[in-house]
Amino acid sequence: MHGLMQQRPLLLSGLIDHAAAYHGDREIVSHMVDGSIHRSDWRSVQQRAKRLANALARLGVEPGDRVATLAWNTHRHLELYFGVSGMQAVLHTVNPRLFPEQIAYIVNHAEDGYVFFDISFAATLAELAPQLGRVKGFVAMCERAQMPDVPLPHLLCYEDLLAQASADCEWPVFDENTASSLCYTSGTTGNPKGVLYSHRSTVLHSFLACAADGLAVSARDSVLLVVPLFHVNAWGVPYAGAMCGAKLVLPGPHLSGENIYRLLRDERCNFSLGVPTVWLGLFDYIERHRDSLDLSQIVLKRLVVGGSAAPRAMIQKFEELFGAYVIHAWGMSETSPLATIGTPLDKHRDFSLQQRYDMQARQGRAIYGVEIEIFGEDGQPLPHDGKAFGDLKARGPWVASGYYRADADAVDDQGWFPTGDVATLDADGFVQITDRSKDVIKSGGEWISSIDLENAAMGHPEVQEAAVIGVAHSRWQERPLLLIVAKIGARPTRESILNFMSGKVAKWWMPDDVVFVDTLPHTATGKLQKLILREQFRAHPLPTDEVAIGRGA
Ligand code: ADP
Repeated sequence: MHGLMQQRPLLLSGLIDHAAAYHGDREIVSHMVDGSIHRSDWRSVQQRAKRLANALARLGVEPGDRVATLAWNTHRHLELYFGVSGMQAVLHTVNPRLFPEQIAYIVNHAEDGYVFFDISFAATLAELAPQLGRVKGFVAMCERAQMPDVPLPHLLCYEDLLAQASADCEWPVFDENTASSLCYTSGTTGNPKGVLYSHRSTVLHSFLACAADGLAVSARDSVLLVVPLFHVNAWGVPYAGAMCGAKLVLPGPHLSGENIYRLLRDERCNFSLGVPTVWLGLFDYIERHRDSLDLSQIVLKRLVVGGSAAPRAMIQKFEELFGAYVIHAWGMSETSPLATIGTPLDKHRDFSLQQRYDMQARQGRAIYGVEIEIFGEDGQPLPHDGKAFGDLKARGPWVASGYYRADADAVDDQGWFPTGDVATLDADGFVQITDRSKDVIKSGGEWISSIDLENAAMGHPEVQEAAVIGVAHSRWQERPLLLIVAKIGARPTRESILNFMSGKVAKWWMPDDVVFVDTLPHTATGKLQKLILREQFRAHPLPTDEVAIGRGA
């Protein structure tokens, strides 16, 4: 027997219409590419998204067609989020930090018909244009007076397109399983792969972002969206923000510590989201200007850190600087991305701060909608004892089942998606990500977690950033090598770092050597590029390896 409830499809157009109707004057603030601050609101985003939908239809964009963006976080990019998907086309957010060849590969693979771009990317696109044979037009996201002078074929102006189109548009109603947006994983190995979200998966994911034990985004929040709109739909917050009418503050390309600080202060942001590396920049700025800053002007109370492990020292620092609670979350493009979220349980109420930081340093628990499990090499589930580590798999209605234009399913016959991460699960269901499976250090048949070691090193007051990789060892197969970027003006020694770490990690996990470097390589989404580091330090002779030392001598 079927229930007797209405079958209204879950469509993204419903989110923006709701935001316009009930939170129309809630602000959308953008720090534009030219440095100016632009103020808009949800009503204006809806009206302009409707104009955009009409403009796209005039350009011949049809349901299912892919429309690409190469753009920063601004109100125009937000308008594209709703205008493109709302008219039943597919928004393809391209990560502009990828190498030009990768950009060309994914624009061609997605068969994008139009590319909307911020003028900072005009020169890159002009160079790539001859390789982008299928693109019918390039739209500069600016006013007529700001149009870039570059040899791009079929160059159009965003503000002209909108001015010429009517805001009179009834959103089409269609199957909620229709594709809404497309995002390629950065593909540290092999070619990037396209994750294709649907209207249904995105709306369900938004409910979760708004749930109290999700990200608890609400109408009372002023959200600094540091995570880019080109990185897994900015973790779903543009949609969740429309669902609940949050104020969104969009930093454009201005992601320095100083700019983040200013926006937090001037827009009274109480909530923010971003990968660990951007917060290091904020801390650095605060440390250097501590005497002239009045930190009581910052009302930040919650922030989500994910994309890479949030070091315990970072969690502690946010608490000490602003009294802000770090929600440590884990996920990936293929999980939309929210999968596990570190909100506390009632039993944590009486925890000391130190105990609480330990809890927060794990990546949280599965939220309703995502099932997770860890599996051993024999394919059997492992105990949830916080010790056994194995392959982490996930399934649920906002987890990918396959990749765009790929032949095979991405899931096994039980519906599990293998995340490529290695993790432990404890009795409460808290996940601890040990490593990406390819980054795990295998020493004498046992595994060492590079993330744990990095975390311990990051607690040292003179360490800016740390990376740990496995280096070949004639006796142990692999042993950990610690690479350190020191804070500006600091000169930590090998001994002080190792002394600091000892007692914080198992003795046999301690790095065999420490190397100081000026910078560490990051991927387009801010993760440490360990593949490059492993290449670079492949022949590094560990002082504990007599054979290697003998070779070097
Ligand atoms: P890309 O490879 O394109 O950067 P994703 O953003 O999808 O792709 O990256 C997902 C991966 O990032 C996860 O599989 C995991 O390895 C890592 N990751 C994400 N969040 C965390 C976290 N909180 N702690 C540790 N690793 C994380």
